[in-house]
This record gives sequence, C-alpha cells and structure tokens, in this order.
Amino acid sequence: MSKRDYYEVLGLERGASPDEVKKAYRRLAKQYHPDFNKDDAETAGKFNEIKEAYDVLSDPQKRDQYDRFGHQAGFDGSGAGPEGFGGSGFGGFGFGGGIDEIFEQFFGGMAGAGRRRPPGPEQGNHLRYDLDITLEEAFNGVEKVINIPRTETCSECEGSRAKAGTRPETCPACRGSGQQQFARSTPFGRIMSTQVCRDCRGEGTVVREPCPACRAQGRVVKERKVDIKIPAGIEDGSRLRVSGEGEAGIRGGPPGDLYVIVRVKPHKKFKRQGNDLILEVPISISQAALGVEMEVPTLAGTAELRIPEGTQHGATFRLKGHGMPQLRGSGKGDLRVKVQVKVPKRLNPRQKELLAELAHISGEEVGLENRSFLDKFKDAFGGG
Ligand SMILES: [Zn+2]
Ligand SMILES: [Zn+2]
Repeated sequence: MSKRDYYEVLGLERGASPDEVKKAYRRLAKQYHPDFNKDDAETAGKFNEIKEAYDVLSDPQKRDQYDRFGHQAGFDGSGAGPEGFGGSGFGGFGFGGGIDEIFEQFFGGMAGAGRRRPPGPEQGNHLRYDLDITLEEAFNGVEKVINIPRTETCSECEGSRAKAGTRPETCPACRGSGQQQFARSTPFGRIMSTQVCRDCRGEGTVVREPCPACRAQGRVVKERKVDIKIPAGIEDGSRLRVSGEGEAGIRGGPPGDLYVIVRVKPHKKFKRQGNDLILEVPISISQAALGVEMEVPTLAGTAELRIPEGTQHGATFRLKGHGMPQLRGSGKGDLRVKVQVKVPKRLNPRQKELLAELAHISGEEVGLENRSFLDKFKDAFGGG
C-alpha cells in the first residue's frame, strides 16, 4: 500500500511554516483522536497517519530528510510496535511545548493531578425528615419521637471493618496511599495516570478478616428513635437541626446532622398569617343588623366577640392575643374574625311575612311577580 504524502495528510503546502504544521495537526488530532471516536478503526488509522505526519514534519531534521528523500527516508510507520508510529528511524517525538496544551485538552489535566493523600475522616451525611404537625401542635409546641433509618458505626468492629480482635492492614498494592499509578500508551507516548487503588478502593487499608456484623462496611443501618422538641409558634416549612443525629461518619469522622422540616397541616377553621389567625364566622342578617355578642372558637378554647349593630358582610374584628404564640418569644398574635352575613335560603311563611313587613315599612319593593305570598301579604295588610 502506497503511503500518502505527509503534507497531504495534514492538508498543507510544501512550504508550510512550523506554526502552520502545528495548527493543522492540532485541528486534525482533535477531530480524529481515538478518545473521541470510540471503536472506530478507520478513524484510529487516520489518527495514526496524522500523528506520523506531524511527527516528521514538526521536526526540522526529519522534515528536511523527508523533503529530500520522501518516504524512503525511513520513518515509515511499518514495523512500529504497538506503541504506534514513528517508531523506526528516529527516536523520540518531535513535540515542542504544544504537546502540553493538547494533552490538557484531551485528558483534562489529569497528568497534572498530584498525589492525593490517603483518605481521611469524613463527616457522615446529613439526613432530612419531613414531619407533619397540626396547627394545634404548632400553637402549643409538641414533642415528637421519630424513627429514622440511618447508618451507624458498627458496634462490633467500632467502624474498623475488621473482625473483632483483628485490624485492617495497610494495602500492599498502594502502600496505603489509596492510589495507584498506571502507565498508559497513547499516541503521545506513555502517560502516567493516577487511579483509585483497585485492591482497597482508595481506603489505603485492606481487611483480611471482615467483620461479620457489618460485612466489612464499618457501618450498619439501624432505625433510631430521635426526640424532637417543636417550639410553640413554629411556622410551616421551618427547619430544625438536630446536631449529630445524621448518618455515622466515615473513618472516624463526626456524624452528620438531622434536619427536620416541619410541615403544619392546613386547619379546617383557622388560616394563619404570620402570628395572626384568621377565622370566618357566619352571622344572620338580623345579627348583622341588630348586633350580637357571641362566642367564637380559638385554638385555646373560645373567646367573646361583640358584633355591633349594622355590621356589614366581610367586616373584620380583631381579638388581641388570641393568635399564634411568638416563636421563642413572649406574646401572641391576634385572632382576626371576618364575618360573613348569610342570607337565609329557606324561610317559613311567618318569617317571610315578617321580612315582607320590614320591607313594607321601609318603603322597599320586594317579591317576584306571580308569587302568591306577596298577594297574600297585600291582602293581609291591605296594601296595593
Ligand atoms: Zn463491623
Ligand atoms: Zn490500596
């Protein structure tokens, strides 16, 4: 198979400058790099070809020979080992500073990642628990016991993961660092990469005899009862932090915290607005007109409400100190009573009669046409 001209491979003219060679290579290398073209033999072959062309054309000495002797110069890729291309004829790769940039682009700076220290203690995960309470409970404050499934440090091995009486040993594969270095052959040569140790999965230690209680996890899932004190006046959506009641820490780290999100369920009678409570109370036309003293419900019991004569529909009365308690403070909000004047839907003949009389003496026209009661009323009072 005849080899393509190196300049042709990179899409360059014979007299291309070193800069142009580099640019052409970068563009094509990105396009055909095997990391971005998985399982594509044709692309891989193309990439090798590009790499080989660049290898020669970027090196002034090699380029000079190639210009004079063509492929006869001896850096043809055939016979190159599994490492790739350009292996014969000239040793090493003719990469300048550009390689680091390309490398960074392809491998995300992985090569620069320094050695990590073996993993240390980690705080356990925080837990979240949604707790529903009633408005009465929010009013009075309440204590709740909640069951939380969470991981705890195994009591058998005290978190060491090793069977009682034994200890975890330093991982021989990574000598306790939790990481291993791997050499990888790439088009750019051998690259050292650091990976989490496969033997100890980054722990730095291995357990020869696993703890049977936790199956060498060091932690077990247990349901735990936690007392939650909910202060009076708490608002819907409040978050209570219970320090240290989250999941167990890792490698001796502190436990996480438990966050209880308090949900105050809607109440049938009362709506809440800040520390005020809002109550709607139905009253009759007569009560609205004549006034009334009545008892209204509160969250603590009942309260007296005085509705004056001539109260309009929608009027609101404030009962001081009958609202929600101030959270972590003293005093309470108010109860705001909104009256709803209800018009009676069904009246007996006597009630109709009296209302009609009221209308009559007020000079109002009432009644619908063809309604017999009005006629009767007219007869009875001799109106007309
Ligand atoms: Zn254990
Ligand atoms: Zn290891």
